[in-house]
Amino acid sequence: MIVPLAIYLHIPFCRTKCTYCAFNTYTNMDSLIEPFVDALIHEIRIGGESKPGQAVGTIFFGGGTPSLLTPEQIERILAAISTYFDVMLDAEVSLEANPNDITQEYLSELRQKGINRLSLGMQSANSSELKLFARRHDNDQTARAVSAARAAGFDSLNLDLIYGVPHQTLSGWDWSLQQMLALQPDHVSLYALGLEDGTPMQEWVAKGRLPTPDEDLAADMYELATEKLAGAAYEQYEISNWSKPGHTCRHNLQYWRNLPYAGYGPGAHGYADGVRYSTVLSPQRYIKALENVSDPSVFPHTPATHEAVVVDRSAEISETLIMGLRLTQEGINRKTFVQRFGIDLVELHQEVIEKYVNYGLLHVDTEVVRITQQGRLLSNMIFRELV
Ligand code: SF4
Repeated sequence: MIVPLAIYLHIPFCRTKCTYCAFNTYTNMDSLIEPFVDALIHEIRIGGESKPGQAVGTIFFGGGTPSLLTPEQIERILAAISTYFDVMLDAEVSLEANPNDITQEYLSELRQKGINRLSLGMQSANSSELKLFARRHDNDQTARAVSAARAAGFDSLNLDLIYGVPHQTLSGWDWSLQQMLALQPDHVSLYALGLEDGTPMQEWVAKGRLPTPDEDLAADMYELATEKLAGAAYEQYEISNWSKPGHTCRHNLQYWRNLPYAGYGPGAHGYADGVRYSTVLSPQRYIKALENVSDPSVFPHTPATHEAVVVDRSAEISETLIMGLRLTQEGINRKTFVQRFGIDLVELHQEVIEKYVNYGLLHVDTEVVRITQQGRLLSNMIFRELV
């Protein structure tokens, strides 16, 4: 079976840095945006030329803040992908945006250029939490951005929220959920706040200026969200993701099914042809690496590749298990697993699987292995034992 490639594009620029964010993003680099777009197009060309005829099923502009690009820049990038890859007619083309960067006019242009799915970083409806995150928008701007997106013709819209935040209460979280549901997104992603090294949030907690997020309270928040979203007819399909029918994120499903994706842009990651790789982090080094390149590259490597690791069979099995068990409905199809690895998953991990089936954390039948409702909060423990 030929699997279409997913393409991730990392746009490494932000207006300001959010206090919890450890992504590879840079502020005050607007003058680099245009040379970066040229370099990205060059990297896409090199990637496509090293794999002629490669089908592409999804494209994802992530970041960073892709909505800092102009519609013309986005159009040029999409045109390059269509020139050097075989983009499927029904391709999902997503773009992440900050609620305060976008107008209906901007979004209408994006829609015309081929973006058909929008993901808005709502993060919270609570102004004190948005301030703590150093986000540049408020809740009214999120609501206006959603209306603008609908008016511009976006019929696939995601909203992100963060829970497990210092000082956040269950009722405050409930308020954010209610505000988010009132906006009727087609897809919802909920992320537990991670205290990433090097972020102000991590430093404030380490120095006692903010309380350590309470894990039990975060678990209650997750449970509350699960109930509310089910009550509003959202289907959970991944540990952190819910959708209305027909609105699952096909791009992210590619990751969770451990299928190939190419990552272009500074700090992007990719996994294709048995190689897991990343590109150089610095936008300046990225631009430089793609200047005056004449030698052909071997897919998925490009001149901007920083690190590449061959994934052996046992690593591929572990990664397929960990990613696949995140899919709460689909789980891991046993027949597909046998076709891919020549061995039955239940045979391979009989002891661990039996143990967690007995605890009620895993479900196994003749077709699938998947995590149960109770297993969702303990998934990391199960993953650790499976690798
Ligand atoms: S806008 Fe997104 S990528 Fe940029 S700093 Fe904030 S969280 Fe990070």
